[in-house]
Amino acid sequence: MDQGKHFLFIPGPTNVPDRVLRSLSQPMVDHRGANFPEFSKPLLQDLKKLFKTEDGEVFIFPSSGTGAWEATLLNTLAPGDRVLCSRFGTFSHLWIDMCERLGLKTDALEVEWGEGVPLEQYRKVLERDEQHEIRAVLACHNETATGVTSNLAGVRKVLDDLNHPALLFVDGVSSIGSIDFRMDEWGVDCAVTGSQKGLMLPAGLGIVCASQKALEARKQAGLSRCYFDFEDMRATNADGWFPYTPALSLLYGLRESLDMLFEEGLDNVFARHHRLADGVRAAVRGWGLSLCAKGPEWESDTVSAIYVPEGHDAKAVIHNAYHTYNLALGAGLMQLAGKVFRIGHLGDLNDLMCLGAISGVEMAMRDAGIPIEPGSGVAAAQESYRKAAAAASK
Ligand SMILES: *Cc1c(COP(=O)(O)O)cnc(C)c1O
Repeated sequence: MDQGKHFLFIPGPTNVPDRVLRSLSQPMVDHRGANFPEFSKPLLQDLKKLFKTEDGEVFIFPSSGTGAWEATLLNTLAPGDRVLCSRFGTFSHLWIDMCERLGLKTDALEVEWGEGVPLEQYRKVLERDEQHEIRAVLACHNETATGVTSNLAGVRKVLDDLNHPALLFVDGVSSIGSIDFRMDEWGVDCAVTGSQKGLMLPAGLGIVCASQKALEARKQAGLSRCYFDFEDMRATNADGWFPYTPALSLLYGLRESLDMLFEEGLDNVFARHHRLADGVRAAVRGWGLSLCAKGPEWESDTVSAIYVPEGHDAKAVIHNAYHTYNLALGAGLMQLAGKVFRIGHLGDLNDLMCLGAISGVEMAMRDAGIPIEPGSGVAAAQESYRKAAAAASK
């Protein structure tokens, strides 16, 4: 089906707004040319606003988010260092897997999928660590596989209560720029994101924001690094240069997407994501289905993982949506394969776009033989969006 717009409702890559698309197609310039710092320095400075940091420093690597995970570990830790982490979905799992492959020792807590960072268990492990052998604590802010958001302020509080000096590393790939994130307030030492989710760009940039404490830790970091070295970036970024050829087109796009986010206002961006997510959640209730997230405190404003009823195959829903209605949904990953489909509701979206997707999901489920009342999800979402609009206009 080539006519009309493709409905892209996976949790990344997300829709690239027309303004950003246009900004991507600009001629190349000399990235060592005299004028380049006039572009690059404000860009790096403005990125700090996205992370809500004054003291932190931002690094942009030509990689995906996974490269930014790796940069974080390589620049701060030594082989055999202990890392406290928790596994409750594919992305939290993959970062733990990377730690292990890089020769770090993980204290990996297994959490039921549908919940997030286990604060009380983190507290217990850190309490027992009287020698402060745990060098870093990992937190996946928004687990994209399950649609679960974790409480980062809570993680900070556990560390502070115990006076534990471990570094706090956050995977914010599917939250930063869509769900509130506060680097300085929450004492985050490295925050990781990528270009293709909340930043509404193609994939290709891995972004890390590092605190001064993380930059200090680099001096004892025994893991080897070269391409991903923070120090090479720092030495050149300070004057607006990069240690190697930057992904210029994506930097142009990033300039435009940051402008768009700041024009809307970050608080409004977060409120819009909450509203869109609320509509999707209303639809799920309207269908009589349930979310993978095990309670409102875990529900993500950027992605919802939705269980199909027992005896049905979520893959059929995804297949029908794609082939019949030109609607791309996210699949269930690992232990959720076939059990859930995911609706990504982040980035350049509005109420009616979400209603279109919800309508397509409804049809695709009926086509898969799932007994859904026609219109039940759409109607519930419509009322949710109407109510939000009425409240906003008061
Ligand atoms: C998408 C995603 C990643 C991986 O990012 P890539 O850009 O695909 O390398 C990591 N963590 C989370 C939470 C994600 O959603």
